[in-house]
Amino acid sequence: MKLTIVGHWGGFPKVNEASSGYIIEENGYHLLVDCGSGVLSLLQNFLSPEEIDAVILSHHHPDHMTDIGVLQHALLIGKHLGKSVSTLPIYAHSENHLFPTLTYKDLTTGMVFNPNECLQIGPFSILFLKTIHSVSCYAMRIEANGKSIVYTADSAYQDAFVSFSRNCDILLCESNFYDGMDATKAGHMTSTDAGKLASLAAVNTLILTHLPHFGDLNELKKEAEQRYSGKVLLAEKGLTIEI
Ligand SMILES: [Zn+2]
Ligand SMILES: [Zn+2]
Repeated sequence: MKLTIVGHWGGFPKVNEASSGYIIEENGYHLLVDCGSGVLSLLQNFLSPEEIDAVILSHHHPDHMTDIGVLQHALLIGKHLGKSVSTLPIYAHSENHLFPTLTYKDLTTGMVFNPNECLQIGPFSILFLKTIHSVSCYAMRIEANGKSIVYTADSAYQDAFVSFSRNCDILLCESNFYDGMDATKAGHMTSTDAGKLASLAAVNTLILTHLPHFGDLNELKKEAEQRYSGKVLLAEKGLTIEI
């Protein structure tokens, strides 16, 4: 499995960057996890829009889904230009009024996932865990070929993350706040929460993502490292890891 970070900013994209968007690839199959503001622009450094095989959305906040509209336009224009465009499935929960917007002509189809069941998308098996956030949101455990990536999406810390993330190869954990701040109230986690989770779940690598627009991001890494002795990385545009 190969993970490519397209965008990793919480709330909105920093200049020339993107909010949440991650390409997970296995055997030439490209799954785009979240499609926030700025993602479609940066994604084209790695893939053309027509090469995305499926999209899955954690929740319907703009920093996780707002580029779906322009992705649909890209497919429409690509089709007019004679490119080979097949209908793109966009998986999401339906607990939101925006779900119908995921279906557009014959270019994209909104697909409801059942969070209580394992979902198969191409080579990936995906399990879900409801998060603690201001709107319905689901963390995902994505597995293929004996490897696993857990993406917390947006959430306050919860004990249920520990068993859900157990022994995963990569924990892609949100860290929208610094140590000592009240992240729970905002439905997010701190660097310290991320480090604690990585340690309790005995994960292989921790990547801090959904990063804040304030403070020194290196402090986030140091704070997480105080709770977790494994490898900690700060998400950054274009970071690629193969597991
Ligand atoms: Zn977010
Ligand atoms: Zn959110």
